[in-house]
Amino acid sequence: MDPFIKPLPTITVEQAPFWEAARAERLILQKCGACGRYQHYPRIVCRHCQSHDLSWQESTGAGAVFTFSTVYRSPGPFVDDVPYITAVVELEEGARMYTRIVECDPQRVAIGMKVRPKFVPQNDEVTFVYFEPAQAA
Ligand SMILES: [Zn+2]
Repeated sequence: MDPFIKPLPTITVEQAPFWEAARAERLILQKCGACGRYQHYPRIVCRHCQSHDLSWQESTGAGAVFTFSTVYRSPGPFVDDVPYITAVVELEEGARMYTRIVECDPQRVAIGMKVRPKFVPQNDEVTFVYFEPAQAA
């Protein structure tokens, strides 16, 4: 029987620097030189003003839970992960990331909770940028 393997992202040219940094446990974001705003996920144009003047900047990693959902039942390859917390984290630079909150009791997660990155390697190429509570329980 084939093992159930979790899906991994397809790394595109515009996203490659993000994944390379994640492997080195660094969080980088695209910053727009025209409007000054940050974005995630990586794109070829600024999502705010459509400028192509984008550069990579180191994020402080400081963020807060913008919204979340705790998954108690999950099909297929994620069945062994439950319960797990999916979330959108808003970084202090203003960019929002779809991610998971780990090292956190599902009963404790809350909108506005301060979080920091937790780098979780999946294989030699992909390291997920999850988040954990900034302060220990
Ligand atoms: Zn812009």
